[in-house]
Amino acid sequence: ISWELACERLDRAAAMMNDTDPVSVEGPIHIGIDLGTADVVLMAVDGEGEPVAVFLEWTEVVRDGVVVDFVGACDVVRKFVAMAEERLGIEITEASTSFPPGTDARLSTNILETAGLDVTYVEDEPSCVASLLELDKAAVVDIGGGTTGTAIVKGGEIVFSDDEPTGGKHITLTIAGHYDVALEKAEEYKRKAEEYKILSIAKPTLERVSDIVAAHMAGHEVDSILLSGGTCCLPGIETIFEKELKLPVHLPSQPLMLTPLSIASLA
Ligand code: ATP
Repeated sequence: ISWELACERLDRAAAMMNDTDPVSVEGPIHIGIDLGTADVVLMAVDGEGEPVAVFLEWTEVVRDGVVVDFVGACDVVRKFVAMAEERLGIEITEASTSFPPGTDARLSTNILETAGLDVTYVEDEPSCVASLLELDKAAVVDIGGGTTGTAIVKGGEIVFSDDEPTGGKHITLTIAGHYDVALEKAEEYKRKAEEYKILSIAKPTLERVSDIVAAHMAGHEVDSILLSGGTCCLPGIETIFEKELKLPVHLPSQPLMLTPLSIASLA
């Protein structure tokens, strides 16, 4: 789908986040479940790929490619499935999911299966995004909580992927140091980026992230960069990457929703 349509869908998805009010949907519904380090998201789309239900909870179930809370992850998935069933008035028996590149797909599929779902599709995260947006000669840069991952896409296929342990948590640490506050407070400040001048405090970390991305891209043909992941919610983040990497940088309207939408649209 086009970039404009993707951003419209991401905005609609964000607007209905955690809305349990019933809606009536005609035709097939596809479910995607994104098990992140910092959050779990269930997104349901209709036959056209339009979001019809979205549930997100901040919970750490996966860390560094390892499930740290298997039971907790299964419980969140079961809870979201029940909420989606209630909202959509259907029975949900299957879903798609994904996993960070370089880790084992079973990380996610085991959780879905234990939660009682059949897994229809499983694909690594940047490949899901690449297939939704039909990317070519692009770098998908996912800046999450703990890590920054780069996936280089050529003709819809991932030709390179790697990640490094620098992400949103490192920015939170810097904010905590700058304002001399606890991490929870620093995380709160981060969400009020303009008020607390977070972009300038985060700049050295983001420059480090762009060095990581530049090293990942070396030797590959890349025409544009697509940002994804929760850390890209920081307003103005794209300006730092444009300046450092000297390539067009696309920032989706709702960075947290891009991977879940891509997973749900896999069918
Ligand atoms: P990883 O990619 O490291 O495995 P993940 O996929 O779970 O983690 P995301 O959900 O993409 O990570 O991003 C989580 C990060 O996004 C956290 O560090 C969180 O603080 C940050 N984040 C979420 N919302 C915002 C916001 N509005 N402004 C700034 N940062 C945010």
